[in-house]
Amino acid sequence: MPETVAGKPCIICVAITGSLPTKANNPAVPITVEEQIESTQEAFEAGATIVHAHVRNEDETPSSDPEKFARLQEGVKKHCPGMIIQFSTGGRSGAGQARGGMLPLRPDMASLSVGSNNFPTRVYENPPDLVNWLASEMLTYDIKPEIEAFDLSHIHQAASMQKDGRLKAPAYVQFVMGVKNAMPADRDVFDYYIRTMERLLPESQWCAAGIGREQCVINEWAVSSGGHARTGLEDNVRIDKDTLAPSNAALVRRVVGLCEKFERPVATVAQARSLLGLRKADA
Ligand SMILES: [Zn+2]
Repeated sequence: MPETVAGKPCIICVAITGSLPTKANNPAVPITVEEQIESTQEAFEAGATIVHAHVRNEDETPSSDPEKFARLQEGVKKHCPGMIIQFSTGGRSGAGQARGGMLPLRPDMASLSVGSNNFPTRVYENPPDLVNWLASEMLTYDIKPEIEAFDLSHIHQAASMQKDGRLKAPAYVQFVMGVKNAMPADRDVFDYYIRTMERLLPESQWCAAGIGREQCVINEWAVSSGGHARTGLEDNVRIDKDTLAPSNAALVRRVVGLCEKFERPVATVAQARSLLGLRKADA
């Protein structure tokens, strides 16, 4: 393990809901805003300091309703003091600028995909004009983007956007591996992503997420390599091959265990905000 890894705080991000998993996949997936707040609080108390959130309609389909995001934000602020709130601008909940309709709520962070790739059953379409519009809205509202890297080119794109001012330095990049038809969990590529970050975005932090059974694998790679870790029911509904995860908190506790294994303290809210260069939590 690299010398610099032990002792470095690890930020745990919990992706509570996503836009795909339903109660039929795992009854613990929080769907209503009330369930989301409760699940987030439990994950927060287990060690998560970032909540990555999508919202849903009553029938469990994805929603982009800013009113739901507003209620979620209010509940998380109340029950999870200082927790970093990150809204998804991912493409399943809407098309075009509807994807950024909640940004005027000024969450601490929002996800930002800077390029396109394939998803299990469709193209995840992120045309340059939409990417630029979402990035400019984030600048306007002082929201830190989390760049979703589904591909190596997305790290290069983040670097070029930072260079010309479309993104504020330092970038925060999420490596996503294991989405069907996109980049699999490949150790050589993972290590090359890290090297590319160090070369193109040396002041930046990175996190990594694995989908489905790759969640546990990627969590271990990330924690042992000095990155931050994302977990949660959005990416994976199981705690092991045969068992559904009982909660988001249970998945967070698994990452806490990895942090102990690799001698990394779990980042506090204040440490996470400082590492990411975020504004202090609203009083
Ligand atoms: Zn998401």
